[in-house]
Amino acid sequence: MKVLDILKDLVYPEKPVCLACGRRYDHSEIKAICDRCLAKFSFITEACPLCGREVIPAALIEGHPCPECEKEKPPYNFARSVFSYAGYAREVLLEYKYGHRPDLAKPFSRLLRLYYAEYFQKEAIDYLIPVPMHGDRRTYRGYNQAALLAENLAGKINKEYKDVLLRVKNSLPLYALTKKARKLELEGAFALKDGVDPSIFKDKNLLIIDDIMTTGTTSAEISHFVLKEMGAANVYVLTTASVPVKIN
Ligand SMILES: [Zn+2]
Ligand SMILES: [Zn+2]
Repeated sequence: MKVLDILKDLVYPEKPVCLACGRRYDHSEIKAICDRCLAKFSFITEACPLCGREVIPAALIEGHPCPECEKEKPPYNFARSVFSYAGYAREVLLEYKYGHRPDLAKPFSRLLRLYYAEYFQKEAIDYLIPVPMHGDRRTYRGYNQAALLAENLAGKINKEYKDVLLRVKNSLPLYALTKKARKLELEGAFALKDGVDPSIFKDKNLLIIDDIMTTGTTSAEISHFVLKEMGAANVYVLTTASVPVKIN
């Protein structure tokens, strides 16, 4: 901490600290993240109506699905993300994912709540489901970042949170694989935890929560599992960030 910051702390000890940049702030629209940081996030306002990812350049789709969704329609009804996985938003999310910062789940879930109100409130969601993490990775990181987001959000919107899925295969790191290889890698990767009633999702509307959507393959595979094998009625996806679709 710089000397000036220490002096400021002494003069204004009551000011809250921004969890993203570590500075004390006067005002924030979202508790625990300062307005300066919020202004640096790349919030998604216009997106592909199906996968919810930002399309670059946006003018090329004008409300139509992105080329990837045109090629293969996702199994979920639609997905939305708060910001594009780029620039400063990416830095803070990486900190959340790998920097042992479970405290960031709270401000992130406040942002998810805003997007929930805008896009999902009217969909009569029954349960919030976090994307599960394989046990080995969970032991290593200490927490499942998707589960923390889902649990926090569920508390704010008064919905039931169901952390009942398992990742049964410890898949290869997906970012290194092509879309086709990811699909193969994730086939049969999800199951229900032991002792959970298999009819729990029958005819229910589910909202899948994750931190980052890369190509959407994970969301697609989970949706496929709960729709085809568990009899869910509708599946929606809400993530903190997603990787933009770039059209050359
Ligand atoms: Zn900040
Ligand atoms: Zn799309």
